Amino acid sequence: MTRHVIVGNGIAGITAARSIAKAAPEAEVVVVGAEPYPYYQRPRLWELLSTDLAPEELYFRSLGWYAQRGIQVQAGSKVSEILPSSHQLKLAGGAMLTYDRLLLATGGRAFVPPFAGVDKDGVFVLRSLADAVAIREYARRVSSALVIGGGLLGLETARALLAGGLEVTVLEFAPHLMPRQLDPEGGRVLQARLEALGLRILTGVATEAILGDERAAGVRLQDGQEVAGELVLLSTGIRSRVELARQAGLEVNRGVVVNAELCTSAPDIYAAGDVAEFDSVVYGIIPAALEQARIAAQNMVAAGSATYSGTTMSTSLKIVDVELICLGEALAGGPAFELIRHSDVEAGIYRRLALHESKLVGAILLGDTSGARTLKRLIVSGRDLTAYKEQLQDQSFELETLST
Ligand SMILES: Cc1cc2nc3c(=O)[nH]c(=O)nc-3n(C[C@H](O)[C@H](O)[C@H](O)COP(=O)(O)OP(=O)(O)OC[C@H]3O[C@@H](n4cnc5c(N)ncnc54)[C@H](O)[C@@H]3O)c2cc1C
Repeated sequence: MTRHVIVGNGIAGITAARSIAKAAPEAEVVVVGAEPYPYYQRPRLWELLSTDLAPEELYFRSLGWYAQRGIQVQAGSKVSEILPSSHQLKLAGGAMLTYDRLLLATGGRAFVPPFAGVDKDGVFVLRSLADAVAIREYARRVSSALVIGGGLLGLETARALLAGGLEVTVLEFAPHLMPRQLDPEGGRVLQARLEALGLRILTGVATEAILGDERAAGVRLQDGQEVAGELVLLSTGIRSRVELARQAGLEVNRGVVVNAELCTSAPDIYAAGDVAEFDSVVYGIIPAALEQARIAAQNMVAAGSATYSGTTMSTSLKIVDVELICLGEALAGGPAFELIRHSDVEAGIYRRLALHESKLVGAILLGDTSGARTLKRLIVSGRDLTAYKEQLQDQSFELETLST
């Protein structure tokens, strides 16, 4: 019987496990996950910060779900080494596990910048359920927080801490918020919306050190300014968990390098999700983890049966009262692109469409996200929009009416 072993119990891991169990009911499927719970939804973690929600309420799959599908799960078990030449894994307790095909779905971890004082009490990152519970407990004992990083996750977390009754300041290094998804004008409109909700936002500032004795009390910026805050949340990016792959001699760049079959440089070892790098891209989003996991699973069952060609980027900010969706090459610009923009800071609305040779390649929809699905389909289909250019200039034109 073929044994498929999956390292990682996140969305990529369980999606692949489910796909393999469905396609090859006779195969053995084993999921080994370091966290001691069944699969839970990471995008819902911030809900814990401002509510009394029990951590179990975030579980999306029960242990019975795995059992009913014939999937063996070892939750709370960490893989410490891969031995590709003998098709074996070593678990942290020393036990060995053999595999015929292996999937690395070890995801990512939050990047901790080398600021002085990051090891003080009250300094956190938000990646896991355990992080969320620890932040919530600490937040109940303080009245102010600093969020370092004004990207998507930083802003969602800042809003949750604000909802929990804290005074919250966001510190962003770039000149405007969400620099990976928004242009300066979009950042300006978003900042105005978030300030109206009660967040304090400083952009263009570089943190140098966390202040305080044993407990965090604020930060010192590179220009010497000090900003007070008793809880410091670092939201400064994600790094793929590549150590197992690197130590096993697999090709690793920013992530574990995979080909179009999602196979790594070692035969019988595949990778999917935040740990995988395809075509120089580590996506870091759930739609990519889902697509990659399904394709990796197909190839694990029957090598060469499916190919991956990349995922259309799609990110959305999940903050009550602030709608924002960024699609495709949201920041595309320069002489080769045609930009159609509309901005209304008062109303909190910004729309930016980027066209290349009359085809939509990227979009930012802030304040009014109706039409997002249509736009995403247009990016994927590459439909020529020459006939609609005039209407697209009109902010009241309903994007949903475009046929894709
Ligand atoms: C707060 C938050 C909100 C987010 N919101 C969104 C959103 O709205 N939309 C979106 O698209 N994306 C969002 N993301 C990103 C999204 O969660 C990730 O893209 C997704 O979780 C990647 O899935 P994955 O399975 O590759 O990795 P992960 O979810 O990181 O899972 C990997 C698992 O592998 C385990 N593991 C690691 N090493 C080992 C080992 N050696 N042995 C055993 N197990 C191991 C880890 O413990 C972990 O449980 C969010 C992320 C966070 C943190």
